[in-house]
Amino acid sequence: MSRQRYAIAIDLGGTGIKSALVGTDGSVEHFHTVPTEAGQGREALLSKLFRLIADHRRTAEQEGWPLLGIGVGTAGTVDSFGTVAYATEHLPGWTGTPLRKLLEQEFGLPCVVVNDVHAIALGEQWQGAAQGMANLICVALGTGIGGCIIRNGAIFAGDDGYAGGFGHHIIAMGGLPCSCGNRGCWENYASVSGLKLLMREQGAPGLWIENPRELFAQARGGDSLAKEIVALYGERIAIGLANLTHTLNSRHFLLAGAITGQGEFLLENIREPLHRMVMPVYQGDGIHLYPAGLGEQAGVMGAASIVPGMRE
Ligand SMILES: [Zn+2]
Repeated sequence: MSRQRYAIAIDLGGTGIKSALVGTDGSVEHFHTVPTEAGQGREALLSKLFRLIADHRRTAEQEGWPLLGIGVGTAGTVDSFGTVAYATEHLPGWTGTPLRKLLEQEFGLPCVVVNDVHAIALGEQWQGAAQGMANLICVALGTGIGGCIIRNGAIFAGDDGYAGGFGHHIIAMGGLPCSCGNRGCWENYASVSGLKLLMREQGAPGLWIENPRELFAQARGGDSLAKEIVALYGERIAIGLANLTHTLNSRHFLLAGAITGQGEFLLENIREPLHRMVMPVYQGDGIHLYPAGLGEQAGVMGAASIVPGMRE
């Protein structure tokens, strides 16, 4: 067995930056989260990132841990060169940041930069719920919907690096307005924000809308309105998964995001309509849904996993 080596790993989101030293055996050391404070702008954010990475490098030196490089998962759309091609207003000024180039210049270490959901998918495929699976689609349900296609054990990036933008595939002509400028995008229905809208439409109590966990608790307890809402939400998720199944002939889906903590109860509400919508020939030995298993460490693990040498 080769000697244990490490990558400095970063998972940069709109509210928090998670970071760690991740070992070639999948161990996660010195994991912690600091607030992003994105409102302070790009230069402040870059300085914070540089300080975090420098701290981890110092720790690795003190421990005598050899470093292979730096892996970053960041919110936003990331191109094949590690530049943030587009970021929403949650990260002001982040659009256009040539992150990989800046980090390599600063630290002189090999660096990879990918989208944060791509990093989560890679982490789960390396050490988590989808361990060792060569072909997989990851769907992250949050404020919006992020996605990632893994083919033959690696990210399928598309022409420019942006593959996986399933959240913006349109499922309702003239439907709900979306942050992307279109109407009827899947994420407006199947994200957690979409679930909150659905609850409003269905006249759910404010307590459920504020805290979807309460909705699920009531549904589990047999409340008929709560059960109906969860069933409708499951169907909205299933519509997108059925489209992906018919497009890519994929039968393995990893579902990420805090809501997947609802586990099997949520999955069974997706599975039933999905089975109904997918043409039998595409169902093979079944369509498999897996809730993410690594929790808040998935992003740093995935970002580390693609640093050259980490998976050898
Ligand atoms: Zn959209």
